[in-house]
Parts: sequence; structure tokens; C-alpha cells
Amino acid sequence: MTSPTEFPSTCLAAVFHDAARPLQLQHLAVPLPRSGEAVIRVDLCTVCGSDLHTITGRRQEATPTIPGHEVIGTVVRVGDPAPLSLDGSALQPGDRVSWSVCVCCQNCERCRSGLTQKCLSVTKYGHELAEGHHSLSGGLAEYLLLRANSAVLRVDPLLPDEVACPANCATATVAAAIRIAGVIEGRRVAIIGAGLLGLTAAAMAIHHKAASVQILDRDPKRLQQAARFCPQVQATDSEQGPADADVILECSGAHAAIEQALAALAVGGTLVLVGSVMPTPPVALHPEQIVRRCLTIRGIHNYTADDLLAAHRFLMAEHWRFDFGQLVQRIFSLQDINEAIRWALAEQPLRIGIRPGRTR
Ligand SMILES: [Zn+2]
Ligand SMILES: [Zn+2]
Repeated sequence: MTSPTEFPSTCLAAVFHDAARPLQLQHLAVPLPRSGEAVIRVDLCTVCGSDLHTITGRRQEATPTIPGHEVIGTVVRVGDPAPLSLDGSALQPGDRVSWSVCVCCQNCERCRSGLTQKCLSVTKYGHELAEGHHSLSGGLAEYLLLRANSAVLRVDPLLPDEVACPANCATATVAAAIRIAGVIEGRRVAIIGAGLLGLTAAAMAIHHKAASVQILDRDPKRLQQAARFCPQVQATDSEQGPADADVILECSGAHAAIEQALAALAVGGTLVLVGSVMPTPPVALHPEQIVRRCLTIRGIHNYTADDLLAAHRFLMAEHWRFDFGQLVQRIFSLQDINEAIRWALAEQPLRIGIRPGRTR
């Protein structure tokens, strides 16, 4: 591994071409960062469900591409001028950083209305074509080019890599879901789906002083894991459906759960849809019930820079209480990326990690 100030001319990257072929380990040129950009050494990249959707062909991407967006890394070189952190200070070599998955223009009508993640010219780490100057835009590589206008922040040394890594995906998305859910304090919260989104949502609901937190899943192993991770929650089989709740966060993407959730919402309740990122059959909606019970249904996809800051504040406050680190169940070297993906698909852990600096 090079020290933060050494600058490599090429680096190893795991390139996805199509679902029929394994990821290909290729040497790619490391570009000199231009204005507002930085070259980052990838310290750890956790593999998210959406990466697995790409790699297995469930999600269509322009190829070739380097997957991976849940990254923690160290700045090795900055452009002139250097990128600014969200606190307004210039990044420097040696800074340990995390950044938003989405890069936005901050100028278009959507950015101006606060939906920066839906910017009309959005780019997303781990989902872009690997070509030209911006080839290194995914985390499954030794280095990554941080684009100009990325929402980036320094990560406190107290947060271990495994805890900080999913912050720019699962944790920030949950922070956005909690923000649009409204008041959590004193309310009964139900969370459907005990994956990383669901467990993070449970911990964040407790952090925000929910009156009670119920988590539902159909997999008994995931329910046991949820009860270990967050003993304060009531872990329930999905078959039973949620108990009466003021706020329901749907993190599973199972469309059948949505009808159950609407039936379980108390008067004035809010359902936030987070997990439905793949097409499903439609669900039945009873408009009269939405009206008479004054219900709110909202959807959230990705998050804003403020949500990323909230995610980091939450992890700093609570990582001692909830063991996020152990949710990254195995760590592999970049050379073993295809074995890592096979293991993740077979065992379905919440997360695996790829540490490019690690040798076999
Ligand atoms: Zn992710
Ligand atoms: Zn925009």
C-alpha cells in the first residue's frame, strides 16, 4: 500500500462488463485531479444490495463500470483549487473522508427545490461508465477520483472503517426517511425489513426517542440478529403484520407489506416507502381510508448533503451503543472480489467489505 502522499500512475480495479462474466481485475490509469477534484485511496468499500443487483444483472447499468459506492478513503492528492468539505474547509492529502453517492449541479430546478439527489444532471458513484478521466468512479478499486461538487466530509478517527463505510448509503438514506417521517419522539414506530436499512432505522428511531420500535421480517435469522443488535426493539414475524403505529418505515421492498402497513397506521400516521427500489405489482389503496384516517404516504430515494451530515452525527453519538461494525460480516481483498460476491450471494450477510490494501 502507498502512503497518502505517494501517487500511483495506475491502480487495480474490479470492472463489471456483464452479468454473464465475473468482475475483471484491470489496471487503470490514476488521473491527475482537476479543479475541485481529489484522488482518494479506497480504505474499505462495503458491498450494498444495489451493487449485487448490478452484478447479477437485475439492474441495468452502462458498462463497463466499477461498482461500489459505500466507501471510506484517504485523500492522496487534490486538484487546484482543492475540493471543499461540507464545513467549508479545503481537503488536504491525508484526510479520511466519506462523501455523498450522488453528485449534483446545485443549480437546476430540482437542486433548487431541495431534491438534490434527483438533480437533472446527477452522477452517482459506482454507477457510471468507466471511461476517460472519470473512469475511477466506483469503490471496488484501489483508488477513486472524487468529482468536483461532491458533498464530502472528514470522518472522525473514532469511527472504525466498518462503521463509517455504509454511512453514505444506508445511514444517510435512513436519516432522510426519518426526516420526512416528521416527529419520532414519543411515537410508535414500526420498521418493515431487518436488513441494514431496517436495523439502522431501528437504532435511529431509538436515538430520536420513539415511544416504541417494532421491526418485522420473515427471516427468523434476521429477526434474531435484529434483537441482538437492538435489544430495545420488538422483533416480529412479517406474517403478523405491524402493530398499531404512528410511523411505519417500509425498508423491505416487499409490496405485500405496504397493504399491511396502511392497515396498521394509526389516525394521523405516516408511511415512508424506502425499500421499493425495484418494480413490483401494484398495491391496493383505499382512498376513503387515507382521507378518513388522515394518513400520509411518502417516498424517499437517496438523500441530501444535510442527511449525510445527520448520518455522521448519529453514528458518532450512537456507535458505542449499537454494534454497526459487526454487521459487516466478512472482509475480502480486492483480488478475491469474485469469491467475495459469490459468498455474499450465497450467505446473504447484511454487508461484506472489500479492503483493497489487504493482501490475501
Ligand atoms: Zn448502498
Ligand atoms: Zn441539479
